[in-house]
Amino acid sequence: MTDTNPNIEDVEAFRLRARAWLPDNMPPRQEGVGHFRDFDRGRELQKRLYDGGFAGVCFPVEYGGLGLTLEHQQALDEETIDYAMPLVLNVPTFTIIGGTLLEFGTEAQKQRYLPPIIRGEEVWVQFLSEPTCGSDLASLAMRATLDGDAFVLNGSKIWSSGAHAADYAICVARSNWDVPKHDGITVLIVKIRQPGITVEQIIDTNGGDEFCQEFFDDVRIPVENVIGPVDGGWTVVRGLLAHERNAMGNASPLSSGRWLTPTETGRSDLMELAMTSGQSANPEIRQLVAEDYALRYVQDETTRRVGTGMASGHLPPTAGALLRLMGARAGVRRSDIALTIAGSSAAAWHTGDPAGQMGSRYVGRQAVEMGGGTTEMQRNLISERLLEMPREVAADRGVPFNEVRHNAMPARGNKG
Ligand SMILES: Cc1cc2nc3c(=O)[nH]c(=O)nc-3n(C[C@H](O)[C@H](O)[C@H](O)COP(=O)(O)OP(=O)(O)OC[C@H]3O[C@@H](n4cnc5c(N)ncnc54)[C@H](O)[C@@H]3O)c2cc1C
Repeated sequence: MTDTNPNIEDVEAFRLRARAWLPDNMPPRQEGVGHFRDFDRGRELQKRLYDGGFAGVCFPVEYGGLGLTLEHQQALDEETIDYAMPLVLNVPTFTIIGGTLLEFGTEAQKQRYLPPIIRGEEVWVQFLSEPTCGSDLASLAMRATLDGDAFVLNGSKIWSSGAHAADYAICVARSNWDVPKHDGITVLIVKIRQPGITVEQIIDTNGGDEFCQEFFDDVRIPVENVIGPVDGGWTVVRGLLAHERNAMGNASPLSSGRWLTPTETGRSDLMELAMTSGQSANPEIRQLVAEDYALRYVQDETTRRVGTGMASGHLPPTAGALLRLMGARAGVRRSDIALTIAGSSAAAWHTGDPAGQMGSRYVGRQAVEMGGGTTEMQRNLISERLLEMPREVAADRGVPFNEVRHNAMPARGNKG
């Protein structure tokens, strides 16, 4: 990131300092600990890192970070392989929100909001999708009406991961209906627990409950909470989506710890499942386990290559779409492989049952093709922005939003 620490610590010295500090201060990594739903645990782990001087490695010093480099963060990631880390806070709080505030926030916003993020005190979420818009985010219909020194928000957001446990959101709303869809959007910082905002959790088919829908009824947001220009928020959204693609592709320097792949741990959950279910000598199963391992290996190397390319400027920020697409396609294939190995034991599951978890994973597998932008949208980005192929036809291009034909908005309580 920008503004690195002038008294920068040598990467190896930093690594050794972390290696000495970790055993007495961070709990061991366990499956399930640091799970993406355990926000209290995430906050606690991040506070420990902060107290020890290992939080916000690539965030600038003036906003509470260490002002160090990606190499320092990678060294810390390697040293923390055996420790529980606040992975739940990586997406969106550290990577997407932190990156967007750093890039587009005012000085006052950065001073106010980045230090509590780095200390693990404030958790954020993204209010982007609506019951009537997702892929075509610029067609959003949440209304932001200027009234004195505040915008008044009305409408609904949906699929917000973790909003029930979050403190703040970056919220995208329409402030001008008389101009084409991209030109009337404003991005705002929203405190979630305040009068007028109702948060409802949604139960997924596999029993998960991290998704939420929010209803806004005359919620007043002070104008100083606007990120970027009023009506000019689409530039901020594009930047935010680039941070999101990096984060989803494991290429953000603002993460705090990483999920590990078998190429790093030397372990494969599918290999263990094949062995415990007595199938390790079956040639077809062995081939599937090897395919899973190879997919992960290729994905790791692609992440390294594209991440380095984007960091050095050899690849544009849109290249994150390559990582996002690869992660999604590989994730779906691995879920299919897992289901084949688990067989009929995946039909029902309880917590801690490894074969059953493959069933749960399969039921939720389509999420990786949608969260952070669908695979189809990543393909559109790659073809239009990286390969410079002709842009998709859009009937609403250049048309004032209030003249664009669209369906009626769903009534409150309609869960999209
Ligand atoms: C795990 C997960 C986490 C999420 N977290 C959040 C969050 O925190 N905050 C938030 O605001 N949202 C979140 N979302 C919502 C997510 O951003 C949307 O689901 C996604 O953008 C797709 O929008 P949609 O569901 O409205 O589908 P639609 O946009 O209605 O798309 C339906 C289908 O049509 C295809 N399609 C649409 N347009 C095109 C096109 N132009 N070309 C080709 N195909 C097209 C899509 O690819 C998809 O297959 C999350 C979703 C998931 C699954």
